Amino acid sequence: MAPVYDYLCSEGHSTESRQGYGVIAIPCQCGSEASRQSVYRQIQVGVVPTPRHEQRHSLKLFQEASQERDYAYSKIEREVGHSIEAPNLYRQGVARSKVIKAGKAPPVKGTA
Ligand SMILES: [Zn+2]
Repeated sequence: MAPVYDYLCSEGHSTESRQGYGVIAIPCQCGSEASRQSVYRQIQVGVVPTPRHEQRHSLKLFQEASQERDYAYSKIEREVGHSIEAPNLYRQGVARSKVIKAGKAPPVKGTA
């Protein structure tokens, strides 16, 4: 049995029709010619990118950011004359990855 194809005319009318593979155009009910649409078109538009807050990140970028942060903290500590307790970003990152892996990650603020 021949497959059902979608045909679209220049006026925007969409028609489903069972035709042989060689039939790339059929007459539309409005009188103009309707051409067969690609059967892959829905796959092509169906690609969903990985949510930004679940993408992999480079370890090198993390190390660079950590070093910048350590430098900023030590600079402030010199200015105020005593040590400041910094949050442990590595521990926070590990905890965050566990939440994401468990599928319980809340939406990131500003991305919804
Ligand atoms: Zn038409």
